[in-house]
Amino acid sequence: MFHDMDDLESNLFQCTQCALHNNSNHGPTSYNGSPDSPLTIVGEGPGGVEDEYGVPLIGPSGQLLDKALMSVNITRDHVFTTNIIKCRPKGNRTPTIEEANFCANNWLDAELALVAPKVIIALGSVALKYLDNPGARITKDRGKWFNTKYNIPAIATYHPAYLLRLTGKQLVKAKWEVYYDFQAALAKCQELVPDYKFKSDVVPNLLELYQFRKTERFTNKENA
Ligand code: SF4
Repeated sequence: MFHDMDDLESNLFQCTQCALHNNSNHGPTSYNGSPDSPLTIVGEGPGGVEDEYGVPLIGPSGQLLDKALMSVNITRDHVFTTNIIKCRPKGNRTPTIEEANFCANNWLDAELALVAPKVIIALGSVALKYLDNPGARITKDRGKWFNTKYNIPAIATYHPAYLLRLTGKQLVKAKWEVYYDFQAALAKCQELVPDYKFKSDVVPNLLELYQFRKTERFTNKENA
């Protein structure tokens, strides 16, 4: 359907196929990281910072994700990160199953067909339900392997936005669970692709890296 990720991304940025497009300030967001990575992380949908920069998991949740990945020696430039939903739902609410299915059928499925990862990490309930089944529950099913409709093994863990809402013992417990889930995903990737390097010496600053896109998006909005 699309020749490559550039072709997909340029079409994605023009998408107005559902009402969520009208809620976002700057239109659809895309992916970040390496499409050549054996590991794909699928989040939920963009927040305010992601809407500004046009890329997923780059704001406070993304920065916590960076730290959690670093704890297992992964940097974001060596994984592919994307979202189920590409436009920011109004008031940053959780997308409905119908919204998630519609957007992901149009875009995520095409992305993953091009990227063809070996392992997927589903972050949070919306990603788990889309990739596994609508009855799956993040609290019950995180940390368990399942097979996606793409025939790619996946494991779910908590979304970093959920961790940001926790405190005390609950937070400590959830952080350890995320750590073990990331370790399991990395171990499976290393088993399948032993030579792949998952970590850069210098941790990329995604806000700096995508500043150019933020500037483009604000300029486009001013000129619209
Ligand atoms: S949410 Fe998805 S399907 Fe809807 S307008 Fe945005 S990119 Fe298109």
